[in-house]
Amino acid sequence: MSSKVSVALVLPDLLGTYGDFGNAVVLEKRMTWRGIPAEVVTVNFGEPVPDSCDIYVVGGGEDTAQTLAVRHLREHPGMQRAAGRGAVVLGVCAGIQIFGESFTRADQVTHPGLGLIDSTSHAGGSRAIGEVVATPADGLFEGVLTGFENHQGRTTLGPAARPLAHVKVGTGNDGSVEGAVQGRILCTYLHGPVLPRNPQLADLLISWATGVELKPLDLPAVTRLRAERAKAAGV
Ligand code: GLN
Repeated sequence: MSSKVSVALVLPDLLGTYGDFGNAVVLEKRMTWRGIPAEVVTVNFGEPVPDSCDIYVVGGGEDTAQTLAVRHLREHPGMQRAAGRGAVVLGVCAGIQIFGESFTRADQVTHPGLGLIDSTSHAGGSRAIGEVVATPADGLFEGVLTGFENHQGRTTLGPAARPLAHVKVGTGNDGSVEGAVQGRILCTYLHGPVLPRNPQLADLLISWATGVELKPLDLPAVTRLRAERAKAAGV
């Protein structure tokens, strides 16, 4: 790791629905508030993807945008190289679909993914839209996971990937489990963005990247946001 923990915000111009860039901002802020020097490196469409960053953040997008994103990321495989050496990677919504082996769009055409996680995705019969509440799997972090979903794709995990959480309200991957974890690659269908709404998940990613065990930050605005969104989701 260099003197600063670098967070690559990957293709926000293609994959950035619902302010998913906020995930990179939250990672950077939660590190700097703790005295850990950090920076966000933005990589737009058409630009090479560095392989030297510590954390990579990919957001959501519609089917055409995610197909273009896969093409770009295959031509510039810096993130995949970094993942291979253990960098932390977060994929949201389209992210979980493009990180898998393949995704089949609503027109039934199957597109290759990046093969970073053991999963396949296919367009479901209806869009999953609304608030999601899920319980973290395997005690990955404390509290419930909440967020907002809007996707047509459904994702099936293979044996090498495990779920991030178990769905209580909403759909997630398939109405039963939500997201995926494989090594230090973590995926979710949740927007919100997901890290402002789930600071314990942000801290899990930071602790993976830095090896530092983090004490929680006392941020009343975040506590209020979580309570308000949990109420909106009916819990
Ligand atoms: N295009 C994908 C779907 O609709 C992902 C949507 C998103 O990222 N919000 O399933």
